[in-house]
Amino acid sequence: MRLRNIPRAEGVLETHSTVIKDKENCRGHWADVFENQNPLYIEIGMGKGQFLLELARRNPDINYIGIERYSSVLLRATEKYDMLETPLPNIRFICMDATEIEKVFAPGEVSGIYLNFSDPWPKKRHARRRLTSKEFFARYDKILAPEGRVEFKTDNHDLFAFSLEQVEEAGWKLLYHTWDLHHDEILNQGNVMTEYEAKFSAQGNPIHKLAAGRIH
Ligand code: SAM
Repeated sequence: MRLRNIPRAEGVLETHSTVIKDKENCRGHWADVFENQNPLYIEIGMGKGQFLLELARRNPDINYIGIERYSSVLLRATEKYDMLETPLPNIRFICMDATEIEKVFAPGEVSGIYLNFSDPWPKKRHARRRLTSKEFFARYDKILAPEGRVEFKTDNHDLFAFSLEQVEEAGWKLLYHTWDLHHDEILNQGNVMTEYEAKFSAQGNPIHKLAAGRIH
């Protein structure tokens, strides 16, 4: 998702209560930021935040951090937050590239990682930029708790097929997968739609989903 550059975005994010500025200083201390010991889940490539805001609303005993590379996109998530009737104390946002996540989260600090409709980077030479490449699984391995899992949704057939292969190449375990989430009675239970999921499923595209964890 690449929105037109919004010049005021960085200024707004600088002062917004949900946006973490000194992210490296929070490494290992996220419980202090949220002022509780609740589990921490992150979404990488959050976009405008619909999915994570809904999860935070449904699950007040879980802390959530949304990571988004572009300030103009993250601005939209903060605007959505500002429209809420009741503020959510269990969500924060970070504007950063996910290649840096090990600088922001200590080993085992994250209980789960969501990847939704990640950029496909279709050219082979860009494969390592895909958020489900084995290079990214190696980063997730560093920050995820032992029982933590990565959940990934997309409508992109090739990216999903690549991701299934990468789980194995990374030495992770495929916990489940479906090529048609919305018609899977069990896996679709409690599904929270993302912006892209709503858009592409309305066009008739099947939604693919996998979950992966470490082999113990
Ligand atoms: N997850 C949202 C959804 O499903 O509606 C947005 C999907 S959009 C296609 C992908 C988003 O991931 C974009 O907003 C993009 O800027 C962000 N993104 C892609 N690569 C990223 C990275 N390496 N670090 C942080 N954000 C990234």
